Order: sequence, then structure tokens, then C-alpha cells
Amino acid sequence: MPYLIAGNWKMNGTLASAEALAAELIATVRGAAAQAEVVLCPPAPLIPAVRAVTKGTAVAVGGQDCHTKEKGAHTGDVSPVLLAELGCRFVIVGHSERRADHGETDELVRAKAEAALKAGLTPIICVGETEAERERGETTTVIARQVTGSVPGGATAEKVVIAYEPVWAIGTGKTATTADIAAVHGQIATLFAAGRGGSDGLRILYGGSVKAANAKEILATNNVSGALVGGASLDAAEFSRIIESCPR
Ligand code: PEP
Repeated sequence: MPYLIAGNWKMNGTLASAEALAAELIATVRGAAAQAEVVLCPPAPLIPAVRAVTKGTAVAVGGQDCHTKEKGAHTGDVSPVLLAELGCRFVIVGHSERRADHGETDELVRAKAEAALKAGLTPIICVGETEAERERGETTTVIARQVTGSVPGGATAEKVVIAYEPVWAIGTGKTATTADIAAVHGQIATLFAAGRGGSDGLRILYGGSVKAANAKEILATNNVSGALVGGASLDAAEFSRIIESCPR
């Protein structure tokens, strides 16, 4: 599987700025895109505009969240089927900001991932420990609980992506050491393989203050097959340097 670099725009952008950023990214990543699969995840209302700009290019579009149901009385939520109809290929589920801001549990995240798969989307399932959990030495326990609880049991390696995002590293400028990243990614691969007979083809992304300056080292780390990028994905030049940092 090629490396995957996903840009999470979070709740940023206007219609005009999103179109401009997508256009700039297409122009900037043109050469770099050969090194990795690239997906942009704008706020839901901006998906059609970003998709219009990226259509026909190698850059894919994804959602930042989806509901567990296809349709119904769920005010403010986004259907995975609609995301697919709008041209999305991926959807982030279980981002720590959703787990914290909306009380999302592993069970809910797993149901969202299952709904995404059913709609033909590839879920990017996020896991990661908080600073307090890390300080208490609970990283391994938290990752085991989240991976076991959030990743659909029947999911095959090629159909899902798992993102390890230590919560304390998101938007803080702090990054985990490559030794820590390798250890947690190795644990995730082992957890995924249990009961599935292997983890070949599974992409495990690292996320948390990835930028051009640290991308090369992080992306060369054992068991790292891409990055989930927040802040740096809002800068076309920075984002394309991250893509270019994928090992050839
Ligand atoms: C994220 O939003 O998933 C993320 C990793 O953000 P940042 O790169 O800004 O830390």
C-alpha cells in the first residue's frame, strides 16, 4: 500500500479560502503526489467545493466525521452515504477532538467505522492517549482498549486506516519520539493482527504536530505508513514538503 498523507482542516476555512487552498495544493503537490496517496478533509459544508477543485487529480477528499446511520432524524450529523455520494473516499472517525468535545466512545467510533465501510468509505480510525494517561504509564492499556473497541472486528487491513495520535501532541508542537511511535505502531499492528491472521497492508498513520521539519524522521519510522496532519495541512508548501518526505 502507498503511504497515506491526510490533511485534517478541522473547522477552518471559508468557501473562498478552501477553494484557493485546494487549488494551491493541487499545483504544489503535483510532483509529490506520486510518493503517497493524499487526502484532504475539509469541513463538511466545503466538501463539494474542494471536490470540484480536486476532481480528476490524484488528490482525494474525505470527511472529518460521519454518523452511524445512513439517514434519519439526526440533526447536524453527516451521513456516510452522503459523503460517498459527494465523492469522498475516506472519513476520519474517533478523532480525539470528537472523543473529547462530543463524548464519543470506542463503541460509537466502531459503529461509525462500520457505517463508513458499508458506504464504501475507508475509515481513518484515530486512537491515542492523553497527557495524564501517558504520565500514569497507561499508554499501552489505552491503545489496546481503543484499538480493540474502535476497529471493526471484520475489517480487513486494506479497508481501514488507523491513526495513532497522542492527544498531548495534537496542535501543541510536541511530538512523540520515534522510539515511542515505533513501539505504539508495533502494538497497533499486533493488536490488529490478532484474530485476523495478520496486519499486512494495514496503514498506520502518525498524527500530532507533524510538519515539514520532522516529517522525514517520523515517516521513516518502523510501522509508520503515513501521517494525519492538522495545522500544517493548511499551508500548501508545508503540506507538500510532508508528502515529499515519504520514503521512496
Ligand atoms: C490532527 O488534527 O489530527 C492533528 C494531528 O493536528 P496537528 O497536526 O495540528 O497536531
